[in-house]
Amino acid sequence: MPLKPRDLIRSEVFAIKAYHVAESEGMVKLDAMENPYALPGPLREELARELARVEMNRYPEPTGKKLRELIARKMKVPAGMEVLLGNGSDDLIQIVSLALARPGATMMYPTPTFVMYGMNAGLTGMKAVALPLREDFALDVAAFVARMREERPALVFLAYPNNPTGVLYREEDVVAILNAAEGLVVLDEAYHVFAQKSFMPRLAEFPNLIVMRTVSKLGLAGIRLGYMAGRPEWIAEFNKVRQAYNVNVLTQAAAEFVLDRLEVLEDQARRILAERVILGEALAALPGVKVFPSEANFFLVRVPDANRSHEGLRRQGVLVRNFHGVHPLLANCLRITVGTDAENRILLAALRESL
Ligand SMILES: *Cc1c(COP(=O)(O)O)cnc(C)c1O
Repeated sequence: MPLKPRDLIRSEVFAIKAYHVAESEGMVKLDAMENPYALPGPLREELARELARVEMNRYPEPTGKKLRELIARKMKVPAGMEVLLGNGSDDLIQIVSLALARPGATMMYPTPTFVMYGMNAGLTGMKAVALPLREDFALDVAAFVARMREERPALVFLAYPNNPTGVLYREEDVVAILNAAEGLVVLDEAYHVFAQKSFMPRLAEFPNLIVMRTVSKLGLAGIRLGYMAGRPEWIAEFNKVRQAYNVNVLTQAAAEFVLDRLEVLEDQARRILAERVILGEALAALPGVKVFPSEANFFLVRVPDANRSHEGLRRQGVLVRNFHGVHPLLANCLRITVGTDAENRILLAALRESL
C-alpha cells in the first residue's frame, strides 16, 4: 500500500497551518496593510513603457546589482554595509532561518507578532521561543533579556513596529536586546515609512544586527520585493542560501522605476498618516471600542465581540483581520488597515452597525 503524505512529510511541516489569505474580490480591503493609493496615471504609463523594454527572455542579473545600489542610496544604507534582495521579506525571513538553523538552534521573538517567524522556525526545525508581550503590547525587556540569557537564541526577530499590535518598541529596549544577544538580531522594519524610526543609521554599531525592510507596505505589495542590510560577512552567507534568481526582471525594473521616484510613495505615506489620525479618533469614539496606539498603517482594536463584528463587516463588504482566538492577548481584537478617506468612512459605518 502506498504511504500517505502524513507518513512522508516532515512532522514540522505537517504541524504548520498554511498562511491564511481571505477571499477579497469586490470587498473594501482593509486586512493586509496595503497602501490604498495607486501610482498616479502618467507615472503608470511611463512605467508601462519601461516594463515593455524588459528582456523577459533573459535571466535577471542574479543579485540585482543596480537595484541594490539604488536601495542603498535611497534608503541611506550606511557605507560598508551590504544589501540582499528577497522575493518579499517573507523570502528573507526564510533565508535567514535556513542559514541559522543548526541542529538545536533557537529562534526567539516577542508574541503576538508576525506569524512568519514562527512558521519558519517550524519549517527549518529551529526551537521557537515566543515570549508574551505585556497586556498593552509593550515589550517586557527585562524578561526578554533574562530569557535570552537562558535560551541563547541564534536568531531573534523583532518587528519594529510590531504587527499586529502597531507598537514601536522603545529604542533603548532594542539596544538592550542587541547588547544581550549572542546571536543575530533581525529588526523587521516593514512599517518604517510610517514609524519614521529606524536602526538603519545605527547598523555599524552592532555587529549582530540585520535591518530588514519591504516595499510592500510602501505601496508595492504586488511586486514582491524585500531587502535587508547588514555586515558583508553576514550577507555573503545569506546570499548562498538565496535561490539563484529570487527577484525577477519585472520586479527589478518596476522597483528601479518607482524607487527612483520615492517621493511619490512618501507623499502617499503622509496622506495615510493623516488619515490614521482621523480614523484613530473616530474608532475610539465608537461605543465599546478600544483602540491601541499605532506607529504603523493599521490599528489593532478591541471590540465587545470580534467574531460578530468581523462577520458583520464581511457581510457589509468590508474585510479586516480577526485575531480573536489566535493569541490570548488578542482576545476580541481586529486589525484594521488605514484606507482612503472614503474606505475609512465605509469601515466606520459598517463597524458601528456590527458592534
Ligand atoms: C507585512 C509584513 C512583512 C511581509 O512583507 P513582504 O515583503 O510582503 O513579504 C514582513 N514583516 C512584517 C512585520 C510585516 O507586517
